[in-house]
Amino acid sequence: MLEKSKAAYEEALRYIPGGVDSPVRAFKSVGGVPPFIERGEGAFLYDIDGNRYIDYVQSWGPLIFGHADPKTLEAVCEQANKGLSFGAPTLLETELAKEIVELFDSIDKIRFVNSGTEAVMSAIRLARGFTGRDDIVKFEGCYHGHSDSLLVSAGSGAATFGHPSSPGVPEDFTKHTLLARYNDIESVKRCFEASSDIACVIIEPIAGNMGLVPADEEFLQQLRALCDEHGALLIFDEVMSGFRASLKGAQGLTSVRPDLVTLGKVIGGGMPVGAFGGRADIMAHLSPEGPVYQAGTLSGNPVAMAAGLSVVRRLKKDPSIYKILELRAKGLVGGFQKIADARGVPLQTEVRGSMFGFFFNDRPVKNFDDAQRSDLELFAKFHQEMIKRGVYFACSQFETGFICTPLDEKLIDETLEHIDEGLKKIV
Ligand SMILES: *Cc1c(COP(=O)(O)O)cnc(C)c1O
Repeated sequence: MLEKSKAAYEEALRYIPGGVDSPVRAFKSVGGVPPFIERGEGAFLYDIDGNRYIDYVQSWGPLIFGHADPKTLEAVCEQANKGLSFGAPTLLETELAKEIVELFDSIDKIRFVNSGTEAVMSAIRLARGFTGRDDIVKFEGCYHGHSDSLLVSAGSGAATFGHPSSPGVPEDFTKHTLLARYNDIESVKRCFEASSDIACVIIEPIAGNMGLVPADEEFLQQLRALCDEHGALLIFDEVMSGFRASLKGAQGLTSVRPDLVTLGKVIGGGMPVGAFGGRADIMAHLSPEGPVYQAGTLSGNPVAMAAGLSVVRRLKKDPSIYKILELRAKGLVGGFQKIADARGVPLQTEVRGSMFGFFFNDRPVKNFDDAQRSDLELFAKFHQEMIKRGVYFACSQFETGFICTPLDEKLIDETLEHIDEGLKKIV
C-alpha cells in the first residue's frame, strides 16, 4: 500500500540526511514510512502509491483554503508570468503590508522575510537593538524556529538559564536565553529576578508546537504587566496562530497587545513567507531607517506576496469562515471525545478557530510537562491506524491539527468513523 513511498524514502535517504528537508516529516516518533506526496486537492492529499488522505496537516498550517486552491493558484500564475523575483520594491509588498497593518492594532509597520524562523530571529534582534539589552525569555514547549538562541532547553534541575538543545549551538549563545514555564507567571518573575538585562519575552499566545495549549487570559495580562514594569518588550509569535485562531490570530481572542508580532504560514498561502511587525517607534530602529541590520535577497518575493494577498484579502472579506471552521473543528474533537470516552481512552482536546489539538492524557494540559505526560505509544499506534485508513494527522503528539475550508462535515463524519475503527483495533 505504501510500496512506492517506501522505495522513494530509501532513495531519498541516500541523498538527503534522514530523507527529508525538515525532521518531523520522517515520521520518526510514530514509526512507519512517510507517504511521498504527488499532489493535493482541497482537503485531500494523494501519495505516489495512489492513496488518498483527508489532510489535517495542510502543510503544517499555511493552507487555510486547502490544497491547490484555484484562486491562490491564479494569483501565483499571474504574477509568475511577470517574473519570479526582482530584488526591487513592488506594489504587492505595500498592499499586503497595508492589509495586515489595518487588521492588527499592535502592528504599525511590518517587514516581510522568507520563513517563520527568520521572522522571529529578526524580531529578537530588533528587540535587543531597541532596548540595548541582551537576554530574552522563552517558554518551554514553545517553538520559534531553529535559530541558535531559540534552540534551548531547560537542562537538569530548576535552572532558569537555558542550555543548547542541539549540538552546534554554543553555550555562549544560549546563556542569554532564560526559560519559563507556560501559564506560570511565577516562573517568569523568577527570570526577571535572575536578570536585569531582559530585552524581551517571546511567547506563542496560543501554543501550537507542544500540541495545542492556549495561554490563559490572566496569564497573558500578568505577562504584559511584568514586561511593562521591567521595560522589556512582549513578542507574540503568531507564525502559526495568525489568521488561524481567528482573523486576527490570538489577538482576536485576547485583550493583551504585544509590542512586536511575528507571522508566517497562512500569510504566504503556501509560499515561503514570514513577517515581523509592531510599534512604529520600535520598527524605526530597523535598517535602513535605523541601525539594526536585517535583509533578504528574496524577501517580499512577488509571487509569495501575490499568494498571501489573495488569501488574506479573501479572509478579511469573509471572516465568518473562522466560525465555520471552528464549528467543524469542534465537531471533530467532540466526536473524538465521545468515541474515546466510550472506549475508556483518556483524551484531552482543545479548539481555537481552525486549530485543534488532542492529547491521550487523563489530565488537562497547561504546559510542556503536562503535554509530555501523554501516552505517546498509544499516539503512535493511533497515527498508524489513521494513515492506513486514509486520515492524515500530524505525525507527533506535540503538533496542532488544522481544518481547511474544503474540509466539510461529511469528511469530519468519515474521519470519526475511521477514528472509531482505529481505536477499536488498538485498545
Ligand atoms: C512554524 C513556526 C515557526 C517557524 O516557521 P518556519 O517557517 O518553519 O521557519 C516559528 N514559530 C512558530 C510559532 C511556528 O509555528
